[in-house]
Amino acid sequence: MDLFGFQEYLCIFLYMIASVLFIMGIKKLGKADTARSGNLMSSIGMLIAVISVLISQDVIPSGALGYGIIAGAIVVGSVIGFIWSKKVEMTGMPQLVALFNGFGGLSSMLVAISQYLALRSGSTRIGSDAFTSITMGLTIVIGAVAFTGSLIAWGKLAGLKIFKKPISLPGKNIINSIILVVAVAGIGLYTYDPTGNIGFIGIIVTTAASLILGVTLVITIGGGDMPVIISFLNALSGLAAAFAGFPIGNTVLIVSGCLVGASGVILTLIMCKAMNRTFYSLLFKSVAKKKSSAAAGEYKEPRAMSVEDAYLVLEAAKNVVIVPGYGMAVAQAQHAVKELCDKLEDNGTEVNFAIHPVAGRMPGHMNVLLAEANVPYEMLKTSDDMNPQMDNVDVAIVIGANDVVNPSAVDDESSPLYGMPIVEAFRARTVFVLKRGKGTGFSGIENPLFTNDNTAMIYGDAKQTVSSIVSEFDS
Ligand code: NDP
Repeated sequence: MDLFGFQEYLCIFLYMIASVLFIMGIKKLGKADTARSGNLMSSIGMLIAVISVLISQDVIPSGALGYGIIAGAIVVGSVIGFIWSKKVEMTGMPQLVALFNGFGGLSSMLVAISQYLALRSGSTRIGSDAFTSITMGLTIVIGAVAFTGSLIAWGKLAGLKIFKKPISLPGKNIINSIILVVAVAGIGLYTYDPTGNIGFIGIIVTTAASLILGVTLVITIGGGDMPVIISFLNALSGLAAAFAGFPIGNTVLIVSGCLVGASGVILTLIMCKAMNRTFYSLLFKSVAKKKSSAAAGEYKEPRAMSVEDAYLVLEAAKNVVIVPGYGMAVAQAQHAVKELCDKLEDNGTEVNFAIHPVAGRMPGHMNVLLAEANVPYEMLKTSDDMNPQMDNVDVAIVIGANDVVNPSAVDDESSPLYGMPIVEAFRARTVFVLKRGKGTGFSGIENPLFTNDNTAMIYGDAKQTVSSIVSEFDS
């Protein structure tokens, strides 16, 4: 019951509070020490937004049963989310984020489709004007692309077998353009006849074409471009939510969708810059066809070194640069690395870390792990900081990193990594590479660094190898 518009004003007020909490939450997420409270603030904002929606609109099917269904859905979703978030490993976070993006897109798509079905059956108050029809159509397109694109991204990040080899799609740009035109034509049909059979066909065409577009856009992307495409999908899921807010007249959905969309776009552009890619080349460039010389098997055998010999070199080194990568995260070697760092410093060696922007599997992955192990912040340098000094570095210790130190990115135009900035560890006087065996990095591309004359491989789990080197300092 609406008491003289009181309910409506209460909802507007609650929406405002939720929006302010979202904005303050995002601001706090910008710094490590306030990130937790920022997360909590945004979550409270989301709870307020959900409650406001429940009291503001006739979204509840009917009476107690309707509330029961909604409450049941909230409990099921919360329990799954809680257990999943508790169980997920740090190395599995990007997959989780990819799924979050995908489900965000799917929900927006379903909101738009359910509104269409309600309009068709005459059980909704939403309009059938061109603006509403177009925003509903765009919600379906963007939501569907975010959904299937994120599922493919999830498969690639989870290392599913079918995605192990780079996939190329001949005529990719033409195919994608045709699918996009079909999707937009579907919106045209729907806008022309929102409640009739032509509109029905339009909605089906738009939905199907957009679901396919998500697959064809993301399936060819890999290696260094994955972090960028994940940020882009994140932006799309936000934009889909913002568009979904228009037809159902929900302000908080528009505000939160715009916040997610805008921050996703900003992150995408930052990642593009860090990876030396343009947004255009990310989506439209064809994957390198010619195999790099590295992939063509022209390598000699890498030179292996024992921990004892590595210790002797490190003991004599004046300066050392540590280049951490995904393998350090897998091995959970960060505490052992901190111990090694202390031993080297006690021995009078200058130690720095060179952190690549996409090392690991999420932005800031290495910084988080090393901060957890109390490595002083001032030791954590970027690749841009360290590369100019690399010629004067005695030893570069590459710990579980591969793609981010692959010299093909610098000197092999045929490599799919070409053009991506790397940590130029290969220029150090001596390079130690700590990895378990001959596994490739995320991009699946061989790394010529491992067979350079100044490189020695120290095989084994990164944590065990680093701990063994530390023990050598003790003995
Ligand atoms: P890579 O994935 O290129 O290489 C990791 C290496 O670690 C592998 O070669 C593996 O070799 C080794 N390794 C795995 N487990 C262990 C272990 N327990 N001990 C020692 N070594 C181990 O990592 P990088 O950090 O160099 O590059 C990150 C890649 O991930 C880039 O291609 C980036 O684009 C991509 N990516 C990054 C995201 C981000 O936001 N940061 C998100 C999505 C993708 P072996 O099996 O022989 O041990």
